Amino acid sequence: MALFKSLDNLEDDNKQKNIDSEVEKVKCLIIGSGPAGYTAAIYAARANLSPVLYEGLEPGGQLTTTNEVENFPGYPEGVTGPVMMEDLKKQAQRFGTDVRFGIATAADLSQRPFKITVDEKKIIEAESVIIATGATAKYLGLESETKFKGQGVSACATCDGFFYKGKDVAVVGGGDTAAEEATYLAGICNKVYLIIRKNYMRASKVMNERVMNTKNIEVLFEHTTKEIVGDMSGVTGVILNNKKGEEVKIDIHGFFVAIGHKPNSEIFADYLDTDEVGYIMTEPGSSKTKAGGVFACGDVMDSHYRQAVTAAGSGCKAAIDAEKFLGSL
Ligand code: NDP
Repeated sequence: MALFKSLDNLEDDNKQKNIDSEVEKVKCLIIGSGPAGYTAAIYAARANLSPVLYEGLEPGGQLTTTNEVENFPGYPEGVTGPVMMEDLKKQAQRFGTDVRFGIATAADLSQRPFKITVDEKKIIEAESVIIATGATAKYLGLESETKFKGQGVSACATCDGFFYKGKDVAVVGGGDTAAEEATYLAGICNKVYLIIRKNYMRASKVMNERVMNTKNIEVLFEHTTKEIVGDMSGVTGVILNNKKGEEVKIDIHGFFVAIGHKPNSEIFADYLDTDEVGYIMTEPGSSKTKAGGVFACGDVMDSHYRQAVTAAGSGCKAAIDAEKFLGSL
């Protein structure tokens, strides 16, 4: 057994002490570990901003719940969501990003340095903050839905629709997202059932008409989902309850949940402008928020595109904006 610690070990110990101490000063703090957070980290690290990144509640973000990602440029054979996120993490670490487990539980963005509380105890004082906390797709909350997540149950038709080419699928929801997902899937799949709990669609008139005019979409008004059924191959059907409470079973292979998203912005909302749903508002064409030195990127500020590649692009913008900001101090 060695009697003395190597220099490397001492450095590791010091780093650990720094992590464990109550208050830590950081130049650039990145919150969130999806494509936006990691891309921001890659750019920030390469710009010598010594970024510290906290991974958050769902390390790797929403993509870790997706099986195959085929639309991210640079992967001709496709890649699984978890593998892609691990690659992004390694790339961020390769340039010196300090990636840590931990959830930002509170924030004071009233003045610089900004104070972010991690895991309800540790305080980070940051000269700049990049918020990349993403959005969480809402699910129905059924046990069978959780069981088949990534095996037929999805919350993103653009990501996963292709796997159901020529097959029958269902979309649940009656808003613009559900209408869009249903029409998108109708172009790929044999038949799309649109399951709506009310007797009308909440989606805009134009989307409503598009759905109604698409031959292979069948709208099931006043139906609710009771259970998703399947086997080792994944989803094979869904049991619904109609208006009279009777059970109706339809055979499908894909079940797309489109009942809305919730941006993870609560702890910042007192200091930043958000829209009525909670998406952080940024200056058009940039990642700058109302608080100088605080930047937002990815799904927490984008209710529209919500793609890994657009999130990555906005993460890049946030790091460049942070670099300019820090350089101007
Ligand atoms: P919305 O909140 O507008 O719609 C959610 C839908 O899901 C509603 O029909 C709702 O039903 C239904 N729903 C909610 N919970 C359940 C549940 N537990 N079981 C069954 N159904 C449920 O969310 P969207 O994501 O559709 O849209 C969000 C915002 O983004 C909207 O402002 C929308 O206009 C906008 N958007 C715009 C687009 C565009 O302009 N191209 C595209 C996509 C979104 P109910 O009506 O009964 O409450």
